[in-house]
Amino acid sequence: WSFLHLKYKNNKAKGAIFQNLHDLNIFAIKADAVVVATGGLGLIFGKSTNSYACTGAANSILFTQGMKLANPEFIQIHPTAILGEDKLRLISEATRAEGARIWVYGDDTKEIEFPDGSKKKCGKVNEKWYFLEEMYPEYKNLVPRDIAAREILKVCELGLGIDKKDQVYLDATHLSDEALKKIEAPLETYKKFTGEDPKKSPMKIFVSVHYTMGGGWADWPATDDIDREKRFRQMTNIDGLFNIGESDYLYHGANRLGANALLACIYSGLVAAKEIPRFLSKNSSDLKEDELDIEKEIELEEKQKQKLLNQKGDENVFLLHQEMANIMLKNVTVKR
Ligand SMILES: Cc1cc2nc3c(=O)[nH]c(=O)nc-3n(C[C@H](O)[C@H](O)[C@H](O)COP(=O)(O)OP(=O)(O)OC[C@H]3O[C@@H](n4cnc5c(N)ncnc54)[C@H](O)[C@@H]3O)c2cc1C
Repeated sequence: WSFLHLKYKNNKAKGAIFQNLHDLNIFAIKADAVVVATGGLGLIFGKSTNSYACTGAANSILFTQGMKLANPEFIQIHPTAILGEDKLRLISEATRAEGARIWVYGDDTKEIEFPDGSKKKCGKVNEKWYFLEEMYPEYKNLVPRDIAAREILKVCELGLGIDKKDQVYLDATHLSDEALKKIEAPLETYKKFTGEDPKKSPMKIFVSVHYTMGGGWADWPATDDIDREKRFRQMTNIDGLFNIGESDYLYHGANRLGANALLACIYSGLVAAKEIPRFLSKNSSDLKEDELDIEKEIELEEKQKQKLLNQKGDENVFLLHQEMANIMLKNVTVKR
């Protein structure tokens, strides 16, 4: 089922209209409270580590219907993903945490800007250059995701990517059996999708769009706010419309820390589950009254569906998506 639009009246959610993607049937669900939990928007960037379902479409549609967004520009880039024809696969942060090292072959004819603003040589020709370790001697390969991603991109832009491509090595070959055991799952993933054994040769990885920190604006009245009773946590600016999980904007600011996404999902779900009954106890209505309106809204979507099905132009939607994704990737990911 794909979300088509929110049914709302007098700024109050009254349900939603959906389309069954198998038979294209359009239908409505009436409700006094609606919860958006549609995840991130990685697919806007073409390929990402997100699932193919994470298009950001629901929040975008709701935005056009008046729901506020907050921090929509806060997109997290994961430094270590493997390229794939369909989507990009994540090589977990745990690999760096267990001691995997990032490197490329150095080139002392080239210079790169270090974090202190000085320009230094890019290692030595034909020798392994552990650039994160040199640039950040304190944190080494454990620098946060955004910093690692930016430096990897810089190194590749200098033409130092492995095989002159956008990729660097993530090397776990030197790790002890004990450490390797802890990261068996990501190593298995790498082997499965590339055919190469990361215990024997270093993995080739690159940065990827991974997580959406921004999203639907959701309220968070403090316990001692004088209007706390009238406000509802996780509720958007549309009464009865809640937003939770990766599709809301709360909790992470500009840079989510590892493992905090699932925590935020569980927490926002628990909060909404307490707030919705409180909202309904004050705002329930006789949903039968809305029967006529719902019929009209389904009819509008049916017309739109027929219009799309009857279109004869030569625009290719897949190419349009690719064009948009390239614009997004080039201008609003690691660099802006
Ligand atoms: C590869 C990978 C590894 C990760 N590892 C970790 C980790 O180790 N620790 C951690 O904390 N977090 C991790 N995360 C992040 C975390 O998994 C996600 O933030 C979390 O699963 C999001 O949950 P959600 O329920 O909000 O959204 P999702 O799980 O994305 O679910 C969204 C649902 O909405 C549906 N949907 C989307 N659009 C529409 C629409 N228009 N109409 C109808 N339905 C729609 C989708 O089909 C899907 O079922 C990882 C993410 C990825 C991609």
